[in-house]
Amino acid sequence: MKPLDYPQIIKLAKTAIEEDSNWGMEEIVRDVKTEIITSKSKSDRKTEIIEEPKEQKTTSVKQTVNDNNKNTKDILDALKKEVLSCKKCPLGNSRLNAVFGVGDPYTNIMFIGEGPGFQEDHKGEPFVGRAGALLDKIIAAMGFSRQTVYIANIVKCHPMKNPSNPELKTNDRPPTQDEMQACKPYLDKQIEIIAPKVIVTLGSSSTKALLQTEETISSLRGKFKEYHGIKLMPTYHPAALLRNPNLKKDVWHDMQQVMAYLKNN
Ligand code: SF4
Ligand code: URA
Repeated sequence: MKPLDYPQIIKLAKTAIEEDSNWGMEEIVRDVKTEIITSKSKSDRKTEIIEEPKEQKTTSVKQTVNDNNKNTKDILDALKKEVLSCKKCPLGNSRLNAVFGVGDPYTNIMFIGEGPGFQEDHKGEPFVGRAGALLDKIIAAMGFSRQTVYIANIVKCHPMKNPSNPELKTNDRPPTQDEMQACKPYLDKQIEIIAPKVIVTLGSSSTKALLQTEETISSLRGKFKEYHGIKLMPTYHPAALLRNPNLKKDVWHDMQQVMAYLKNN
């Protein structure tokens, strides 16, 4: 067998370190101790942060959407049906599955990523690859789960470098401006229907697309903005944390602000 060369060894070592259980959010959570984490048991936090089903909410936005007396879940399901057969941009011709979003339609918190990758395209669900596993850990560290938050992307179909080959694993690319603009009305409707208290944008694409800015994610993260009257916290994308684990503590600081906001509102 051919001996491994230096770059291969480094690559293997890096993967091993990343996959070791010590790279998870648990460590960060332990390191950056806060009132919220240390003073309450997980189940207490859950009941405190996640409130009653929000159908009882009387925001004007929700009332408009609910004019025809349908409940939030039905309205969201109808939108999903539309998205699953959408061909409004060229991504609709190459995707295997449109990836609408998952989670609780009555949640207080939405996480918005960039777009489906290879795995998400195959499964039809957002954030199911390695970045998704890390997002699940972040969400769990906040006292939530994939079922109690809502996760969606700025584009619903897989942007591919080579659209003729959806089976190619190294085919992911970020969405273009045109693709994001074409798809954004669906995300806007999801936000309007769910009407969360907080939106967390993950990474540069969704942050810039919603805030309509060209500022960098490192300058935008960690500071609350507003989107359609809803608090919006930009933070790094979990894929960036896989490349640079030093960023995890920044994300954790950002999520603590989100948790504090939810606790007090
Ligand atoms: Fe439609 Fe969005 Fe898919 Fe484009 S990316 S085809 S706009 S669902
Ligand atoms: N990255 C994203 O931004 N979204 C996904 O759904 C998966 C990976």
